[in-house]
Amino acid sequence: MIPFNSFKKHTLFHKKEILDSIEKVFDSQWYVLGNEVENFESSYSNLTKVKNTVGVASGLDALVIALKALNVGPSDEVIVPSNTYIATWLAISAVGAKIIPVEPDINTFNICPISIEKAITKKTKVIMPVHLYGQSCDMDAIMKIAKKYNLFVVEDNAQSQLGTWNGKYTGSFGDINATSFYPTKNLGAIGEAGAITTNTESYKIFAKTYRNYGSNEKYVNIIKGVNSRIDELQAGILNVKLKYLKEFTNERKEIAARYNNNLKDLREINIPYVSPEADHVYHLYVIKTSKREELIKFLLENNIQTGIHYPIPPHLQKAYSELGFKKGDFPIAENMSKICLSLPLYPGLTFEEVDLVCDRIKKFYR
Ligand SMILES: *Cc1c(COP(=O)(O)O)cnc(C)c1O
Repeated sequence: MIPFNSFKKHTLFHKKEILDSIEKVFDSQWYVLGNEVENFESSYSNLTKVKNTVGVASGLDALVIALKALNVGPSDEVIVPSNTYIATWLAISAVGAKIIPVEPDINTFNICPISIEKAITKKTKVIMPVHLYGQSCDMDAIMKIAKKYNLFVVEDNAQSQLGTWNGKYTGSFGDINATSFYPTKNLGAIGEAGAITTNTESYKIFAKTYRNYGSNEKYVNIIKGVNSRIDELQAGILNVKLKYLKEFTNERKEIAARYNNNLKDLREINIPYVSPEADHVYHLYVIKTSKREELIKFLLENNIQTGIHYPIPPHLQKAYSELGFKKGDFPIAENMSKICLSLPLYPGLTFEEVDLVCDRIKKFYR
């Protein structure tokens, strides 16, 4: 069986080092917001060339806290992709702002800057680009629009750690940005964790205070915060895994290149399109196929698992029925939800396995 995802190398490979880091925290008798968190925050900032990182409990919390830092609320509109993981939308709902979905570019699957500009109104406060599947959005165009209309940018960088646009890391463009260390992400914890990244000192201070009950000094509360601290144990684990992120990102790219090479001449499918300005870090390798259900079944019969990211776009989820969207409102997102198929891709997947997957896909179409 070739699984869709595996932690064999991504996590288990570092067993000894990770268990040592857990033991270190265990022995330190300091379990919340200690040295591991501080080290992780500065290491992640250095690696991704951003001034500040603030660790929080999850990627969703990071998105919510980013919007809170910008004082986004019920009278504001937030522009967000029509095709994204539901968390991006949920963050906007959490602060009570209005969700303004914008369709993606059909090639990159990423939010289309031209459509962003058309969706701007007097109430627009934030643009929330999502670097879907590991490819950066067109951040030059998006930052230019934000500047022109005086809007904030909050990047959802959950899927694109170490991805770049024109050489600059995702998560370092926007005013205040969010990422996730959910176990399957390119940098994954062994549990829940996320972070905010920002070049603005005041947003860093807000995030640090807000995640900790609105307090910087014990029993002195200056704002109404929450408890969304990154776990000291997870920070220790992430400190180990961060050292291998570049190496594993390169491995992801090599696997993707192998898929591309094997599949590029197969006319019945589309391999991922990558903008020349983007360095794609392949959180996911997503092809387009009009025979998705049959192909999934055929691959499963051949012991190959695949994934769908995502089968139902947010506007058609029951959770968002109150917004009154219906089928046909966002045709590109809806079409993507029907034709996208994610192939196995993770550190440790061998070229032989990639070749086997490709061979079976070709067999399906013969
Ligand atoms: C994973 C993910 C999130 C949420 O991260 P969690 O840590 O699971 O809360 C948000 N946005 C996108 C695009 C994601 O892929």
